[in-house]
Amino acid sequence: MIKAVTGTKDILPSEINRWYYLENIIKEVFSVFNYKEIRTPIFEETSLFARGIGEETDIVSKEMYTFSDRSETSLTLKPEMTAGVVRAYIEHSLGTLQPLTKLFYISPMFRQERPQAGRFRQFHQFGAEAIGSTSPLLDAEIIQMSYHILKQLGLKDLTVKINSLGVPVSRENYKKILKEFLQDKKNKLSEDSRKRFDTNILRIFDSKVESDQNILKDAPLLINYLDEESKNDFEVVKEFLIRIGIPFEIDAALVRGLDYYTKTTFEIISKKVGSQSALCGGGRYDLLIEELGGKPTPGVGVAAGMERILLACENENSFSTPDQFIDVYIVRIDKELELEVSEIASRLRRKNLIVDCDYLSRSVKAQMREANKLNAKFVLIMGGDEYKNGDVQLKNMSDGEQKTIKTEKIVEIILAAKEQSHK
Ligand code: AMP
Repeated sequence: MIKAVTGTKDILPSEINRWYYLENIIKEVFSVFNYKEIRTPIFEETSLFARGIGEETDIVSKEMYTFSDRSETSLTLKPEMTAGVVRAYIEHSLGTLQPLTKLFYISPMFRQERPQAGRFRQFHQFGAEAIGSTSPLLDAEIIQMSYHILKQLGLKDLTVKINSLGVPVSRENYKKILKEFLQDKKNKLSEDSRKRFDTNILRIFDSKVESDQNILKDAPLLINYLDEESKNDFEVVKEFLIRIGIPFEIDAALVRGLDYYTKTTFEIISKKVGSQSALCGGGRYDLLIEELGGKPTPGVGVAAGMERILLACENENSFSTPDQFIDVYIVRIDKELELEVSEIASRLRRKNLIVDCDYLSRSVKAQMREANKLNAKFVLIMGGDEYKNGDVQLKNMSDGEQKTIKTEKIVEIILAAKEQSHK
């Protein structure tokens, strides 16, 4: 038997309401802040990601699904969205139409990671990008929207962590200071961190190895070496978050090891999802658009993992999944009435009622059982001499009341009964 590929999973009908619920909240919150949806292709030229995410990142160096098509062009399934969004922003000159372009997305992503709880090879992210302004209030807006979405889902156990990386000049200066600090401790670092010491020293902070973390405990922190502008912007972000009541912690270890990330970075984590605790992460990337061939344009964004968020909801029991139900199930007593049943079903459906009936020639008893299973609000029973006389039975499943009604009045009576039951 052929099974789904490791690290991928089917989203089954029994789970789909949760996805709809999450997607609706995402769309609602982003719309309130006037972000518009963008959909970019599933694959892009590989070089876009190499430049837009960084050759030395884990994503680009070991996790991408890269293949050549028949014309030998190297293509990659998107492992994240920012690079594609920025590519589209430049390609369609979105900035000339709208000097501040606010975009959001919901999309599958692909990374060849080691599958575990909360980590897949095909997963879904939603996110937002605000391109065109250096205002730190937009950094705060991005954090605020992410937090609102998670809160609206009913999540309680959230921690917002923020940091600032400064601009490249102050960061380069700091890197030298960090290098000096680590120089005589280099041999005690893990192999990965020793490599990073030479290639990308900031990312040593990403190390999960305990001995590395012990060494880093006394390390000088970038946050104490910020340039004036970054320092002021960080103050604005913090002040705004305080004003609107979003609690946060400063985490000096939140680094993004690439030069085009600047100033604010943040993550929102949940203790309820195991070791893969980051629900979303983002920050400012004032130099990325230029790196990808556009005019120098500042930007800030977030990406959030939807599977992980749904897992957090499940583990916090925060989901009030809407009940599954249908409005009307039509039970047919005589097999000959098949066409009539389908015709009435179609008349009711045109009024936007959720209607189903039997297509399996089941017994009346089995049809009633099906109506119960589907949580039907009303059951219409058709057949026998009664139907020949122009009548059918309508049963209200919430109180069990059953009455005879005229066939031509079915639509009107059911609509009125539904209206009544809403009151
Ligand atoms: P990143 O793009 O790596 O900053 O990730 C942003 C968010 O996407 C993370 O906080 C996770 O919630 C989610 N995420 C990243 N990688 C995976 C994965 N392999 N499987 C599931 N979710 C992921």
